[in-house]
Amino acid sequence: MRYGLLGGKLVHSLSPQIHEIFFNYTGINGSYELLESSAENLPVIMRQVKEKMNGCNVTIPHKIAVMSFLDDIAPEALAIGAVNTIVIRNGKTTGYNTDYFGFGRMLEYNGIKIPGKKVAVLGSGGAARAVIKYLADKNVGELYLVTRTPENIDNHFKEMAPSCNVIDYTQLEKINGNVLINCTPVGMYPRMDASPVKRKVVEAFGVAVDIIYNPAQTILLQQAAAGKKTVNGLFMLVAQAVAAQEIWQGRQYDSSLILKIMKDLERNI
Ligand code: NAP
Repeated sequence: MRYGLLGGKLVHSLSPQIHEIFFNYTGINGSYELLESSAENLPVIMRQVKEKMNGCNVTIPHKIAVMSFLDDIAPEALAIGAVNTIVIRNGKTTGYNTDYFGFGRMLEYNGIKIPGKKVAVLGSGGAARAVIKYLADKNVGELYLVTRTPENIDNHFKEMAPSCNVIDYTQLEKINGNVLINCTPVGMYPRMDASPVKRKVVEAFGVAVDIIYNPAQTILLQQAAAGKKTVNGLFMLVAQAVAAQEIWQGRQYDSSLILKIMKDLERNI
């Protein structure tokens, strides 16, 4: 079974390691290769993927462009407007967004409930789209999209989540809520000395989630007072990879497998 990751620059990707560990634990005879491609070369590489592979993941900068090469797109990926997983079955390509499923599984595993809750999401990039779609689908109570430039936010977010309030970081400082979710790259390796918000913002929420996975403890998570629930992005990273395997293999895997892969990975990053 031949799988891979299609993207621009891929040297730092953890995906090959995650999928190799997955193959070792499950006994599946699979390979996972890196497919670096420019935007111009996308038609050629997509033809090769369709002819020779069983599935592939897609990352920056091709998550949107790849959609025009697919035969079918799953509803969550269509609504989010980005595909990060493709399956090839009987010569037909179908696109999915497993960030959506990985994020959901991370919340479930950590016992973080969404229905009726007041949630703020920092950032308006690709990850925030998948997160906001998931929160809207799970009947979040009050939803805030926090951005540096509210005037630049397009209608896409409102279409996915009609009750979504778009605010800036000053307005966020006046809000108390249940869950704060960082979907910006602020605090990520190698520039780890920053947080997108002041400590008092983190204090005003019951739970702090940072989908960054390197470092494990971002400044934002460190700003949370002792005893407050905090969750980093490593479980989501592994869960979205396992969700891709679930699509490719046509079966479900237990969360204990995600944890085993996560522990192996933690030793290497
Ligand atoms: P992105 O599209 O490049 O950026 C996300 C958003 O962050 C931007 O649209 C921007 O929103 C905000 N932002 C960017 N630079 C900022 C700054 N200096 N200060 C404040 N806000 C800033 O990134 P992405 O693909 O959505 O990914 C975001 C983060 O999530 C990355 O760290 C990535 O590694 C992580 N991630 C983790 C997983 C996982 O599985 N754990 C999955 C996907 C992504 P505004 O312009 O609206 O402020």
